[in-house]
This record gives sequence, C-alpha cells and structure tokens, in this order.
Amino acid sequence: MIEKHCFAFRHGKCKVLTVKKCEGDKCPFFKTKAQADEDQKKAFRRINSLDLSTKRNIISLYYGGKMSLLDDVEVR
Ligand code: SF4
Repeated sequence: MIEKHCFAFRHGKCKVLTVKKCEGDKCPFFKTKAQADEDQKKAFRRINSLDLSTKRNIISLYYGGKMSLLDDVEVR
C-alpha cells in the first residue's frame, strides 16, 4: 500500500486530488512527506527571493496573507 506513504493520503482519502481512490504507485503526484516538505521549502525560498510587493501578492493569494511563513526561510 504505497499510498500510506504519500503526504496527501489521510483518513483513507487523497487530500489533494479529486480522485475516488488513490492511484498508488501509478500516481504522478505521489510524494513522501519528506519530499513534500522539501518542495515546500523550495517554494518558500523562491518566493522569498522576489521583491516585497510580489511576495505579498503571492502570500496573500495562496497562503492567506501569512507573511510569517517566510520568517524562517533560509536565504541562499
Ligand atoms: S498517490 Fe496520488 S492519489 Fe494517492 S494520495 Fe498521493 S497524490 Fe493522492
């Protein structure tokens, strides 16, 4: 049961796709929690590299305006 290792599989359902049943190892969106966390960090690093106005727009649109999400993002 590969879906049990997917970050999106909770309470017997997929929380990110509108599928009736998890597609398991055939799913192109499968990621472990560690992979999903790393992808999230990469996204935050990229957002953090943008100008303040663009950052605010993206955080407002996709993250409920929580600019604090960028507080602990490493700068590379
Ligand atoms: S493998 Fe695909 S369908 Fe299954 S929980 Fe993960 S993202 Fe959803």
